[in-house]
Amino acid sequence: MPAAEKVPSIAVIGGGITGLAAAYALQGKARQSGLPLSVTLFEGSSRLGGKILTEQAGEFTVDGGPDSVFQQKPWTSQLAETLGLETDLIGTSPVQRKLYVVNHGRLTPVPDGVMMIIPTRFMPFVTSPLISWPGKLRMGLDLFIPGRKDDEDESLGHFIRRRLGQEALDKIAEPLMAGIHVSDPEEQSLLGTFPRYRAMEKQYGSLIRGMLAQKRAARARRQPAAHPDGPAWKRSAFVSFRGGMGQLVAALEKALSGVALRFGSPVTGLQPLADGGYRVTAGSGPAQTFDAVVLAAPAFAAAGLVASFAPDLAAGLRDIRYVSTATVSLGYRSADWGEAFSGIGFLVPQRESRQVSACTMSSLKFEHRAPEGSLLLRCFVGGPGREEALERSDAEIIASARAELADLMGVRAEPVMARVFRWAQGNAQYDVGHLDRVRQIKAGCPPGLYLAGSAYEGVGVPDCIHQGQQAASAAWDHLAILKERQVSA
Ligand SMILES: Cc1cc2nc3c(=O)[nH]c(=O)nc-3n(C[C@H](O)[C@H](O)[C@H](O)COP(=O)(O)OP(=O)(O)OC[C@H]3O[C@@H](n4cnc5c(N)ncnc54)[C@H](O)[C@@H]3O)c2cc1C
Repeated sequence: MPAAEKVPSIAVIGGGITGLAAAYALQGKARQSGLPLSVTLFEGSSRLGGKILTEQAGEFTVDGGPDSVFQQKPWTSQLAETLGLETDLIGTSPVQRKLYVVNHGRLTPVPDGVMMIIPTRFMPFVTSPLISWPGKLRMGLDLFIPGRKDDEDESLGHFIRRRLGQEALDKIAEPLMAGIHVSDPEEQSLLGTFPRYRAMEKQYGSLIRGMLAQKRAARARRQPAAHPDGPAWKRSAFVSFRGGMGQLVAALEKALSGVALRFGSPVTGLQPLADGGYRVTAGSGPAQTFDAVVLAAPAFAAAGLVASFAPDLAAGLRDIRYVSTATVSLGYRSADWGEAFSGIGFLVPQRESRQVSACTMSSLKFEHRAPEGSLLLRCFVGGPGREEALERSDAEIIASARAELADLMGVRAEPVMARVFRWAQGNAQYDVGHLDRVRQIKAGCPPGLYLAGSAYEGVGVPDCIHQGQQAASAAWDHLAILKERQVSA
């Protein structure tokens, strides 16, 4: 390369898992190709990871944001293996524990064989006290109601009511399926969050028939067992890291030796340049120019940055709503907890009007979370219709979570550890029409600007990693286009 030739450069805005995955992918592409590339990652706060945050509270390992990832989406474990973290990946505890739902103020187990919302085993379902007899009969009508064939979006609430009835929605789908997305089921896009259920309806004409067929197919595929001699985490539906999810962030930070990391540098200005690049202004430093930008900040932050040159794009980004949540982690001495509860956790339907929306027994789900003789759990607070809970102080939030545990399980012991993690505007909402909205947003992006993150094509950590990697590929390809243009000019 002649000495005067400028090194191609890419800015990554946002140091959550999406931006980190993008920066790491770009570094990898440059190293593999042997081509020069300058990558700068701008993170507004003083630490990397965004929603991924693990704290060591004494001997408790506490995840304040995500605590695990869905394995069927392989991008997290693949990235972990690339980073040399494969021996730190852990699966969920092999002990099968029940999930409970609060029903008329009491903890009631979700019947065995209910997969997400769909019953696949007859006896446990018919004998369960969770759903009333009329409710069970209504769910059974799914076998006879003709399947919808079009590709129009609808709300999760509408879909479940249509196929399985109101009681199934209120008691299972709303706390579980909407709960995963921290969404109001009447707003939540079916195609944006659970497209496979519409596909199942189309293919089998019934969710129950579809789920039974998939269960049979999975059983046939599992002969012999997948990865019989491999590490246990490969057989687990959910995985995490021995040191909590923050271990992935720490490993990425260490691996990003070829990337300029700018902490405490909120990007305040983004301007397209006549030659196709972008000028980025961040923190108190001077403006820098880049050939391409991966914008991995939340949609509302991205909207603010593009508003001056792409107002329609900004309007589309602002249409993606967010809600605020918090998690409350509590550590107990096992002796104080006694036999109070041995399930994996519980969900709380909206109509139960409680202070928490769900609770997970973190140290029963994963090893390495609590010291010997102790247990760790975490409750979820806030979300749609419950956001006023976040106006309270940490002490009040802890007290309200403890009051619920006392009422539901009789646990009145003093926790030995309590931590609150607040996620203001932390959860992107995939409202009905989300896929079209995202299509339009992406189509409205000027050349050289690539959006990625939890607001667009999947909220889970694996989807964010995948989106970061895809945005990195697109930005890398853009450099080649610019190069061709320069050569032919
Ligand atoms: C409580 C909670 C529990 C969750 N549990 C799970 C789970 O168990 N499993 C799972 O898969 N997913 C879970 N999720 C979802 C998942 O954690 C997130 O969707 C994902 O981490 C988002 O990553 P991101 O990089 O897209 O965004 P973020 O993590 O929000 O990162 C964006 C980054 O951009 C930075 N930023 C913003 N504006 C600017 C600017 N102007 N300039 C520079 N930087 C800026 C922010 O400081 C932040 O660091 C959970 C989320 C929450 C809130």
